[in-house]
Amino acid sequence: MKAVQYRSVGAAPEVVEVPDPEPGPGQVLVKVTAAGLCHSDLALMHMTAERLPFPLPLSLGHEGVGTVAALGEGAAGVVVGDSVAVYGAWGCGVCAACAAGRENYCPHARGLGIRSPGLGAPGALAQYLLVDDVRHLVPFVGLDPVAAVSLTDAGLTPYHAVRWALPALVPGSTAVVIGVGGLGHVAIQLLRALTPARVVALDVGEDKLALAREVGAHEALVSDASVPEAIRTLTGGFGAEAVFDFVGVEATGRIAVASAAAEARVLNVGLGGGAMQMGFMLVPPGMSAYAPYWGTRGDLVEVIALAQAGALSVRTEIYTLDEAPLAYERLAAGKVTGRAVVLPNG
Ligand code: NAD
Ligand code: ZN
Repeated sequence: MKAVQYRSVGAAPEVVEVPDPEPGPGQVLVKVTAAGLCHSDLALMHMTAERLPFPLPLSLGHEGVGTVAALGEGAAGVVVGDSVAVYGAWGCGVCAACAAGRENYCPHARGLGIRSPGLGAPGALAQYLLVDDVRHLVPFVGLDPVAAVSLTDAGLTPYHAVRWALPALVPGSTAVVIGVGGLGHVAIQLLRALTPARVVALDVGEDKLALAREVGAHEALVSDASVPEAIRTLTGGFGAEAVFDFVGVEATGRIAVASAAAEARVLNVGLGGGAMQMGFMLVPPGMSAYAPYWGTRGDLVEVIALAQAGALSVRTEIYTLDEAPLAYERLAAGKVTGRAVVLPNG
């Protein structure tokens, strides 16, 4: 079958022919209908050999939906032909975090060598994807797989983040979304659907600011050093009750903290490599900071339900598998609007 692989440190991803995977005991083989491209893929392709936490080559893609193609021995709970979304944060499955569906915070996965598809295990940018256990599959009905594949990360990650910030987002509050890309444009919709907060979006591209307004941001501002002052003006001098940084560089970390109100919830979601300052007198009194990772299995079920109810839509650009390297180039150049989605069998 064909797959998009990151083959050696620093090289561009390539479309290659790899052996057809066969499901072992307990595994499920999924024929991939659609796979999404995430900026985290670029982050891992920028890591030095010392920092890269898994061996190469690696088939990329940690957002995937498809149909069940075959079941390994003993696998049960789905049947061939079922439409499924893949929950990608694989944990050990038995610890307290995993029992609560919080496999994204499993403390054992790394030590046990358990890796997520596209982030160490073969990923969804391939015609077929091996899923280690039926519990990683979520029924996916009533949604267009192409339009909704990115709910598995670009929907799930902001959903998990917004849930944490909900107690701060009361009527009259303000939420700031920094970076209106794949995750950020869904975050804006989640904030509008789940909270009464006023949403202020920041980006460096005019097209991204236009997208922010289209998907529901009340204000869309160019992301620069003048933002904290503008946010204070908008909020009667107090600042924002929640700030979501979907970029994660030094500059956005500074904007996030300087825009926050007392007792604000500030989230660093982006993998930009920057650090957010934390310390007494350095941040507003009572501020909490959170670096969330992906989301829980329950979060995925809920964000899919929200999309089924019509409250969310992911803006997509569609590519063939052969075009995936080009799509990554466009993503790196900031040219993708919403999410780039690849059709490995289409
Ligand atoms: P994306 O490339 O689709 O979007 C990034 C957006 O940020 C773009 O619109 C870009 O114009 C904008 N941007 C760049 N610099 C900016 C700045 N200084 N100020 C404001 N906006 C700026 O990326 P994505 O796939 O949505 O991912 C967003 C970030 O979240 C990435 O760093 C990714 O690695 C990370 N991520 C984290 C998790 C997690 O679990 N923590 C999960 C998925 C993605
Ligand atoms: Zn991702």
